[in-house]
Amino acid sequence: MTINNKVETKEFQAQTKQLLDLMVNSIYTNQEIFLRELISNASDAIDKAKFRLLSDEEIKKDTDFEIYLDVNKEDNTITISDNGIGMTYQEVIDNIGTIAQSGTGNFLKKLKQNNENIDLIGQFGVGFYSSFMVAKKVVLTTKAPSEDKGVRWESEGDGSYTIESIDKEKRGTSITIHLRDEFTSDGDEVDFTSHYKIKELVKKYSNYVRYPIKMEIPKEEDTEVEVLNSMTPIWKKKEDEVSDEEYSEFYKANFRDWQDPLEVIHWSVEGLVKFNGLLFIPESAPTNLYSPDFETGIKLYSKDNLILEKCEDILPDYLKFVKGVIDSPDFSLNISREMLQSNKQLRVIAKNTEKVILRRLKKLLKNDKEKYESFWTQFGKAIKGGLYSNPGKKDKLEDLLLFSSSHIEDSLTTLAQYVERMSDGQDVIYYVVGENRKAIENLPQMELLQEKNLEVLYLFDEVDEFLIGVLGDYQEMKFKSVLREDLNLADDGSEDEEDEPKAKDLLAKIKDHLSDKVDDVRLSKRLKSSAACLVSSEQGMSIAMEKIFKQMDQNVGAANRILEINPKHKVFSKLEGIYNENPESKKLKEYSELLYNLSSLVEGLTPENPVEFASKITDLMAEN
Ligand code: ADP
Repeated sequence: MTINNKVETKEFQAQTKQLLDLMVNSIYTNQEIFLRELISNASDAIDKAKFRLLSDEEIKKDTDFEIYLDVNKEDNTITISDNGIGMTYQEVIDNIGTIAQSGTGNFLKKLKQNNENIDLIGQFGVGFYSSFMVAKKVVLTTKAPSEDKGVRWESEGDGSYTIESIDKEKRGTSITIHLRDEFTSDGDEVDFTSHYKIKELVKKYSNYVRYPIKMEIPKEEDTEVEVLNSMTPIWKKKEDEVSDEEYSEFYKANFRDWQDPLEVIHWSVEGLVKFNGLLFIPESAPTNLYSPDFETGIKLYSKDNLILEKCEDILPDYLKFVKGVIDSPDFSLNISREMLQSNKQLRVIAKNTEKVILRRLKKLLKNDKEKYESFWTQFGKAIKGGLYSNPGKKDKLEDLLLFSSSHIEDSLTTLAQYVERMSDGQDVIYYVVGENRKAIENLPQMELLQEKNLEVLYLFDEVDEFLIGVLGDYQEMKFKSVLREDLNLADDGSEDEEDEPKAKDLLAKIKDHLSDKVDDVRLSKRLKSSAACLVSSEQGMSIAMEKIFKQMDQNVGAANRILEINPKHKVFSKLEGIYNENPESKKLKEYSELLYNLSSLVEGLTPENPVEFASKITDLMAEN
């Protein structure tokens, strides 16, 4: 066999260079994670080889899958080898020379947003490149089972790498790290040539890797090959045999998170369908949770063999932030994704899994509200989205919703709690949409409710009002927007009754003046100190919804507008005065428009003609 000795030198892609720079000049103190990253890559590569075992004659030749660590104190190197799937020449260029991985891309993005907070490395697990935190040179040799030749890749992390075709007998990948001086026994940082240290790191980060991680350990006279990890799949153990720490370690090592999980759900089902489940609710939502490139992370195993890295058919979309493992002996090893979709067992498992997660969330809400609120802050949007897109899940999800409320300052309320606090005779759930507590509490529409001390749910999230629309009611109690007409909060109404006929003509005139802007003009029963407010009609789009559609550049028309005027306000008397003097007065038209524009402003709407509006106000100021 002739060897093609041509050595190619290639430049890293710009984004990769940037990342390498960060690694090489890293001030990140947790450099030891490089080992976890390389072992995890090795384990993934073995998974892939094993996955093809049944169909690939080459792979069948060596089925003693293992990861081998070799520490060389003389050369100051550490080598991580696997007999996994390896890489072809082109794959090395594609996978190692460029950043195709969304995880790494996200890391760079996040790093920029967070003022280069290098601690984020742990969160994103930058994989192979993390080796440059400790290496002055990295040499990778690899061979894919299908290829005759192997590949040698080398880089000093300085912007370029060399790549060449080589003879290599065994399939798989070896990565040799030439340690920087500070990481050797002569250096003043961690000594990664210490067998003891390496062993400790494997236990810490890679204990549940499913393949033996072996290392030759020097003993007094001889050396001995030791298996460093325990390998027993944690999900096969009983819940009381696993400590919180072990769960956390397993989670962090397998699901690329640097935080402990918020909740661990570990259960098994022995019925028509048998399976073990181990799920984790993360502490924080990943930055890309709501972007289409977010991948669900349920690993599907059958008898300890990974059959699908990311099974999308277990969790409903709204729970896609949950991570974990489902292991069922009922799946055959080489089941395809398409077959899974129509698989009856999988459907049973999926249904049970959703139920188990929801049950846990309800339990958390009941027993540890503070923790549930922290969950809600991170993932509430997902739950709300689930309800919005599946109204049929109302019964399952409505009790998981939390809202801010006029009556609770520093925490949130469930709908059930709201209903419990309702005063006698109250038969609707009041809500109001707004940007924040302060803005809402200053709204004229809130005046009467505040006076009557009626509790109002505060909706700050854009989706909330649409969600309320989907819910329709809760425990047969309708939702009622404070920003819509007919609040039905009869004040001591007798006086108003008398006032109505007198005001009728004036209101009709004002409506006439505003005919292109409002659908009706009425006397308000709800206003206390404000002169007027704008509300929308009982049904249809609200003003807040209209604003959201506008922001999205969607032209779906405008909300119905009703101008409510406070009959007890001085401004109203003024209008009456002008009207009584001359019903056709031009001033009445001007004042009507001013009142409308001012009420729009309060709703956060821009007056149609701001310049004209401003000049009218200044005219008014000059007059007085
Ligand atoms: P990630 O592990 O997040 O995919 P890495 O930068 O660590 O990102 O690795 C990039 C790619 O290189 C991997 O997706 C894989 O295709 C390939 N790779 C890395 N290590 C190995 C290995 N030991 N064996 C085979 N392929 C590997």
